[in-house]
Amino acid sequence: MKPAAFEYHAPTTLAEAVGLLARLEDEGCDAKILAGGQSLMPMLAMRVARPDALVDLGRVPGLAGIRLHDGHIAIGAMASKRAAELSELVRDKQPLFHAATRLVGHQQIRNRGSVGGSFAHADPASEYPAVALVLDMEMVATGPDGERVIPAAEFFVTYMTTALEPGEILTELRMPVLPARAGWAIREVSRRSGDLALAGVALTLRLDAGRCTDVRIAAFGVGATAIRLTAAEDALNGAAPSADRFARAGAIAAASLAEPMSCIHATADYRRHLVRTLLERSLADAAARAG
Ligand SMILES: Cc1cc2nc3c(=O)[nH]c(=O)nc-3n(C[C@H](O)[C@H](O)[C@H](O)COP(=O)(O)OP(=O)(O)OC[C@H]3O[C@@H](n4cnc5c(N)ncnc54)[C@H](O)[C@@H]3O)c2cc1C
Repeated sequence: MKPAAFEYHAPTTLAEAVGLLARLEDEGCDAKILAGGQSLMPMLAMRVARPDALVDLGRVPGLAGIRLHDGHIAIGAMASKRAAELSELVRDKQPLFHAATRLVGHQQIRNRGSVGGSFAHADPASEYPAVALVLDMEMVATGPDGERVIPAAEFFVTYMTTALEPGEILTELRMPVLPARAGWAIREVSRRSGDLALAGVALTLRLDAGRCTDVRIAAFGVGATAIRLTAAEDALNGAAPSADRFARAGAIAAASLAEPMSCIHATADYRRHLVRTLLERSLADAAARAG
């Protein structure tokens, strides 16, 4: 199928893009932001989305940088996933985000797809929302009233819905660098390499005097948004790392999942099983890296 007709706008400054979105909204026009188009264009072609207008951010300068700023890594929303994958800063200072990026789609998708587009799209099977919860990332939104910073825990509201207000543009993602003695891991199961995950887990932990501390775990592909697995975190904080302890944490995490999604590709029980197994293995990965 072909997309339904839409107006196309290509602003050349951020201020122009913000003003344009505000004007289109005032006129009652349903406008959508276009970034890399890797999710939006298929939705238009299938007519799942039929916006009146597209506002393409592709010509807005200054939205694609990747830099170290005030002790955190700041990634412009329009930076491509491939740029994040090739960034030595991201690879060396925040390897969890780097590893998650390499799991997104295929290289062709990562060439075009923006980092910010995945956050704004908020697919519950995407790797990034889980990583954002684990790293306590911050999203910077720019709208008619200026900039505001939204913590990850408030950003992902429900299935493909974020805390971005109409007319707001996601402009930057901020994340801490990995602290000393920290380990990290991300694992997922998908039907084919490059597909969105059926289920996955991402985590960080630190080893302090032979004990796990600061354990942060999130699962993706199992609910309307990525979710923190706090019961499993509680079972690990203060404990010595061991295969038994990791197996127990996996079982606790699986039991804590209220109602994982069920579809033709994976039942709720299978997704619970995946979270249990992936977490057990990921904890071993992370402990080895921290050690
Ligand atoms: C074959 C295939 C496999 C894929 N596999 C994965 C995968 O394994 N993991 C994964 O996470 N994703 C996967 N994706 C999705 C892909 O990562 C998309 O690139 C991403 O979801 C959207 O980024 P984009 O820049 O292309 O955004 P677009 O498609 O342009 O936009 C997506 C949505 O976000 C909004 N938006 C975009 N940028 C902004 C912004 N700056 N501010 C506000 N709103 C904005 C748009 O209005 C739209 O609603 C896959 C896609 C395909 C086609």
